[in-house]
Amino acid sequence: MNTRLGASRLTLLYLLAAGLWVLLGDSWLAALGLDSTQLNRLQSVKGLLFVLLSGALLYGLLRVQQHRLTRSSRDLGASEDSLRQAAAVFESTQEGVLVTDAEQRIVHVNPAFSRITGYSAAEVLGQRPSLLKSGRHDGAFYQALWEALQRHGSWSGEVWNRRKSGEVYPQWHCIRAIHDERGRIGHYVAVFSDISALKRSERELNQLAHYDPLSNLPNRLLFTERLAHAFDRTTRTQSHGALLLIDLDHFKHINESLSHNVGDLLLQAVGERFAAQLSDGMTLARLGGDEFGLLCEPCASPDQAADLAQQLLHSLASPFLLAGRELYIGASIGISLFPEAIDSVEQVLRNADSALFKAKSNGREGFAFYDQALTQYARQRVELVGALRQALDNAQLRLHYQPLHDLQDGRLVGVEALVRWQHPQRGLVPPAEFIPIAEDSGLIGAIDAWVLERACRQMVAWQAAGAELEFVAVNVSGRLFNRGELDLQVTRVLAATGLDPACLELEVTESAVMENPDAALLRLERLRQLGVGLAIDDFGTGYSSLARLKRLPVHKLKLDQSFVRGLPHDSDDAAITRAVIALGQSLELRVVAEGIERPEQVEFLRQLGCDYGQGYHFGRPVTAERIGRAADPATLASEPLGAP
Ligand code: C2E
Ligand code: MG
Ligand code: MG
Repeated sequence: MNTRLGASRLTLLYLLAAGLWVLLGDSWLAALGLDSTQLNRLQSVKGLLFVLLSGALLYGLLRVQQHRLTRSSRDLGASEDSLRQAAAVFESTQEGVLVTDAEQRIVHVNPAFSRITGYSAAEVLGQRPSLLKSGRHDGAFYQALWEALQRHGSWSGEVWNRRKSGEVYPQWHCIRAIHDERGRIGHYVAVFSDISALKRSERELNQLAHYDPLSNLPNRLLFTERLAHAFDRTTRTQSHGALLLIDLDHFKHINESLSHNVGDLLLQAVGERFAAQLSDGMTLARLGGDEFGLLCEPCASPDQAADLAQQLLHSLASPFLLAGRELYIGASIGISLFPEAIDSVEQVLRNADSALFKAKSNGREGFAFYDQALTQYARQRVELVGALRQALDNAQLRLHYQPLHDLQDGRLVGVEALVRWQHPQRGLVPPAEFIPIAEDSGLIGAIDAWVLERACRQMVAWQAAGAELEFVAVNVSGRLFNRGELDLQVTRVLAATGLDPACLELEVTESAVMENPDAALLRLERLRQLGVGLAIDDFGTGYSSLARLKRLPVHKLKLDQSFVRGLPHDSDDAAITRAVIALGQSLELRVVAEGIERPEQVEFLRQLGCDYGQGYHFGRPVTAERIGRAADPATLASEPLGAP
C-alpha cells in the first residue's frame, strides 16, 4: 500500500520536473539572447542533461526496488521455514493435539492424538470432541471449563476421557481459544498428554507409603493418620472409639524354628483371619513385626471393645495349615478407649501399649484395658525386673516342694518343686507374681536352670537319706521349652548331680506344647530318650487336639485345678474330669488331679480311677526338710503334710 503511494508520488514529481524542464528551459535559453549556433549547442547540452538525470533517477529507483525484492523474498523464506518447523512439532510431539473451528468441529489432529485416543484422523475430522467423553464428569465440570475459556482464553486441568477401545483414562489438558484479526474466536487448540502411567505410579507410591507390602494392610503411618482423625471426631462429637493393639504370642519361635518364610505366611494368614472379623468403620493395620492394630470408631461401650478382642482371639483358635504343617498361634491384646480424658493421639497409643503389656503379663492369650492404675503397674514392673535380677545374684530364690499321692493307696509318691522369691521387704513372693515377668525379661532361663539343678540335687540328698520318693517334678517354662536346648541342659544337670533320669519328671504346660506342636513333639521325643518322665501340666486349658495328644510321648496328664475345684458337685467339672481320666486310660497315660482340697474330692477321683492327687488336702508346698521328714518311713506318721 505504502509502496504504491510512493511510486505514484514519485511519477507525478518526475512528470512535473520534466514538464518544467522542457517549458522553462527553452524560455531561459531564449532570454539569454544567444545566436542560433550557440542556442542549438545549449539545447543539445540541456537534452543530454535531461537524459543523464532521468537515467540516474531510473537507476536509483531500480536499485531500491531490487533491494526491496531481495528483502521480501528473504522474509518469505524465513516464514516458510517456521511453518515447516511448526508442522514438524505438530507431527512429532508426544502430546496429542486437536484443533477445532469456532463451531467445535475437529479440523486437525496430530499422530499423537491417534496414538493416545485410538481414533485415526479420518474418523474424527468433522466430529465434535464430545466423542471422546468418558461420562466421568458432570455438566457443571464442562460448564466451568467453557466459562474459563471464554473469560481467560485458555483452560488447563485433568480430564478423564475414553479411548476408542472403551478404556477410560486421565489426561492433562490445555485448551486455548485462537482469535482472528477481528478479535473473534476462530479456532480452539487442545493439547493433552496421557497421564495414566503417572497416576499409576502415584498410586503405587501411595500404596508403598501407606500399606504394608506383606499383608496389604494399612501400615503404621496410615493407621496413625486414621487414629488422629478418629480421635478428633470423637472429641468433637462426644462419641467414643477404641484402639486395640494385638501382639502375637511367641511368634519369634515360629520364625526361629520354621524359617522366616513360614513366619511371613503366618502373618498374612493371621491378617486375613483378623480382617474377616471386621465390620464397617474399623481399620486393621500391621504396625510392624508381629504387631497389629485395630481401630474401632465409633465404639459404643467397653463391652463392645472386649467382645471384639475376644472375637479376634477366638479367630486364632483353629490351627493354620501352612507349608504342610498345622501351626497354632495365640495373641495378647491391649485396649485403649478414647477420648476418655486423653489429650493426644500419642497418649492413646501409649495407653494401648501399657494395656498390651498388662495382657501379656496376665499370662498371654488374653486382653486387658488401660486404666490409671496401669501406669503405676508398669512402673512397678520395671522395678520388679531389676529386683528379680538381683534376687538371682543374691540367692533370694527358694524351692518348696508339694507332695503327690497315689489316690488308690494314699502313698506319697513324689513331689513337685515350686519356686518362691524370698523378697527382703515383701516376704515370700509366689511364682505367679514373678514368673511372667521373668519370662518377658528373659530371666526365666536362669531361674529354671537354678530350679532344675537344685531340685535334682535335693532328690539325690533325699534318696541318700533313705526317703521313699519315686520322683521330683520340675516345671519348665514355655519359653525355655520352646527354645529347644532343654535336653542338653537336662543331660548336663543329670550328669552333674548323678540323679537317675527315671527320678526326674518335667512338667510342660499344655499351652507351651500347643504353641508349636510339631516342634514340641521332637523336643519331647529327645527328652524322653534321656529317660526322664514327662507330664503335661494344667491340662484342659490349652486347646489340645486329640489327634496330637495321641502322638505326644508323655507319661502323665495333670488335670488343671480349675476343673477339680468344683468337684464333686459341679456337673461340668465332673464331666470334664471323667473325660480326662478316661482319655488318660485309653492313651495309657497316668492322670494327676491338681488342687485337691477336700476328702470328698479324693473319694470322687479315686472312684473314677484317677491315679495321683496333689493339693492342700495332702499338703501345701513346704521346705525340703519337711518333705524329708514326711518321706522318711520312720517319721511319716508323726508329721502329716496335710496338717494345717
Ligand atoms: P503349677 O505347676 O500348676 O503348680 C501348682 C500350683 O497350684 C502351685 O502354685 C501350688 O501351690 C498350687 N496348688 C497346689 N495345690 C493347691 C490347692 O489345693 N489349692 C490351690 N488353690 N492351689 C494349689 P504356685 O506354687 O503358686 O505356682 C504357680 C505356678 O507357677 C505353677 O503352677 C507353675 O506353673 C509356676 N511355677 C512354679 N514354680 C515354677 C518354676 O520353678 N519354674 C517355672 N517355670 N514355673 C513355676
Ligand atoms: Mg506344675
Ligand atoms: Mg498345674
